[in-house]
Amino acid sequence: MICLVLTIFAHIFPSAWTGINERTFLAIKPDGHQRRLVGEIIRRFERKGYHLVAMKMIQASEELLKKHYIELRDRPFYERLVKYMGSGPVVAMVWQGLDVVKTARMMLGETNPADSLPGTIRGDFGVDISRNIIHGSDSRESAQREITLWFQPHEIVCWQDNAEKWINE
Ligand code: ADP
Repeated sequence: MICLVLTIFAHIFPSAWTGINERTFLAIKPDGHQRRLVGEIIRRFERKGYHLVAMKMIQASEELLKKHYIELRDRPFYERLVKYMGSGPVVAMVWQGLDVVKTARMMLGETNPADSLPGTIRGDFGVDISRNIIHGSDSRESAQREITLWFQPHEIVCWQDNAEKWINE
């Protein structure tokens, strides 16, 4: 119950989740899903020590995707990007943990797979900038906005992590 209240609070106040409760939004894009990379990607974040608090597979609407990528609306690839993201299921997730926004971006690699180091998701599995497998929020503010856009408060599941004391001091 207290977690639901906190989640609603965090939907209103972006700075509510900090420290080990920081949250980020990740979405496995249609190419990542089609290429059967869902398990591999989840495995990487689980083994890192992060805490999965929400996940769903959805066929995203054009309206949702246009809102999600609103900041890119003037870029030449915007319409193609929205079309591609709506071309198949997306696996949307919320992950929680210390510095998860920044660390997840490092685990994803650079926007262009060609610039991404081996060991990163895009570096290991991607080739083309427009088929780069996964989305990850680029700041805490974006994470808050994206989590609110993709998930209702009741879809975020709070659970006791019994491994937490082995991951955080
Ligand atoms: P990131 O996903 O790494 O945060 P951006 O927010 O800049 O990167 O771009 C969002 C998405 O738009 C990228 O993940 C990629 O799918 C697509 N994209 C970015 N730049 C290009 C480009 N030059 N050509 C085609 N698609 C692009």
